[in-house]
Amino acid sequence: MSKYDIAIIGGGILGTTISYWLSTLYDLKICVIEKEQDVAMHASSRNTGVVHSPFYLNPDTKKVLAKSAILSYEMWKKLAKDRNIPWKNTGVFEVGFDEKQHKSLEEYMKWGERNGIQEDELELLEGKDISKKEPNVQCYSGIYCKREVSTDFGLFTKELKKESERNGIKFLFGKKVNSIEKNNDCIIQFDDSQISSKIIINCAGGNSLDIAQKCGLATDYSDLHFRGEYWIADDEYNDLVKTTIYTVAEFKGYPFLDPHWIKKANGQSEIGPNAVPVPSPETYSGYLGDITTSLSKLKEIITGNALKLLADPEFLSLVSKEWLSSISKAAMIKRVQKFVPKIRPEHFSRRGIAGIRSPVITPNGKFLSDVMELEDKNSYHIINYNSPGATGSPAYSAFVIKKLQEKGFLDYQAKPKKSIWDFDSIAI
Ligand SMILES: Cc1cc2nc3c(=O)[nH]c(=O)nc-3n(C[C@H](O)[C@H](O)[C@H](O)COP(=O)(O)OP(=O)(O)OC[C@H]3O[C@@H](n4cnc5c(N)ncnc54)[C@H](O)[C@@H]3O)c2cc1C
Repeated sequence: MSKYDIAIIGGGILGTTISYWLSTLYDLKICVIEKEQDVAMHASSRNTGVVHSPFYLNPDTKKVLAKSAILSYEMWKKLAKDRNIPWKNTGVFEVGFDEKQHKSLEEYMKWGERNGIQEDELELLEGKDISKKEPNVQCYSGIYCKREVSTDFGLFTKELKKESERNGIKFLFGKKVNSIEKNNDCIIQFDDSQISSKIIINCAGGNSLDIAQKCGLATDYSDLHFRGEYWIADDEYNDLVKTTIYTVAEFKGYPFLDPHWIKKANGQSEIGPNAVPVPSPETYSGYLGDITTSLSKLKEIITGNALKLLADPEFLSLVSKEWLSSISKAAMIKRVQKFVPKIRPEHFSRRGIAGIRSPVITPNGKFLSDVMELEDKNSYHIINYNSPGATGSPAYSAFVIKKLQEKGFLDYQAKPKKSIWDFDSIAI
């Protein structure tokens, strides 16, 4: 049986950035366990691809994600330049439709400043001024942030995997973690083999709660999975709007429900994502997935805290709209017509790549607002690492490593190697 000092579960952007930092700091036996045949096969490639500026994140409740996003911007920019990865400065308008949403935008301006965005990078404009810049956009008012960028997070992850491997990290592909037995070391069981590791770092994305629960943690939490679908604008409508457009969340408790107009790094325009409930973090088509997964999710909902959420009539009504927007392209277009009235269903003939978000539900039936970290003596778990998780992963991963050092998980002599980014200036 192979023995490791550290096993990272999950080769998404989070597990891979953590592996990269560790590889630059220590000479240890480290592996990344990934059930697919490559890194970034799930959320880390199947996302909107926006490097977000965190003006819309409340610095009190989303402090970690906001700080990570602000610090990671320059880090990604440098890597994109070094490795020729697309870095398209699109800018973004975050628009509102009435006085109430305008008040939210005023608050975002203050959050932006508190989160470290420069004063000259954010501008609050009236709807008529936005329509001067974007004649096909209609709104009451909006924030323009010139710092928003479109990129390809999957390519970043692949690049960091190469660097990690060069520094000695082993990627174990095609290995699905089925069970974890914890004694002094952790015995990790796959279908056909097992390994042991002194510590585990759980970065399993939509399965991270399941992995934590296999270690006896967070047993009173549950999760739901929402598929975000996109439609690609046909060539002749691609430039109807030249800037990325987001909207103030109609329901603040469910900020992931509103579709946007996105300028992608490849130059295409897409609308999406919606948020269609599905039974697993990998149900990319259809609504029920395989029957065993669906039944087990149904049982979890009926017996768990997600039922409290589903008892909320507002949530149920929103979710039913999401199903409609999946079955009917026209229903999805209608939601975007609120701010781009000119678009029609026949302008979008191809679907984009869908991705799945897996927000965690607290024991009292609410969505958990920030990322959650849990630990026991030989495992560390990162759960609810949702948007803008891809944006913030290089800085966030450095914070995680700093914490692991402080908590004694990494009680080894550091032997720093040459690195793309400077750990000491980030992990403060
Ligand atoms: C629709 C959508 C749009 C988004 N848009 C943006 C955006 O524009 N900007 C932004 O910053 N963020 C965005 N995000 C969020 C961002 O994509 C995620 O926060 C980020 O990708 C999470 O990375 P991860 O490594 O934690 O998860 P993942 O990429 O899901 O990686 C987890 C990995 O763990 C593996 N795994 C799971 N279970 C096991 C197991 N049992 N054994 C072995 N391996 C396992 C999986 O195969 C997977 O590769 C979006 C997300 C979605 C879904």
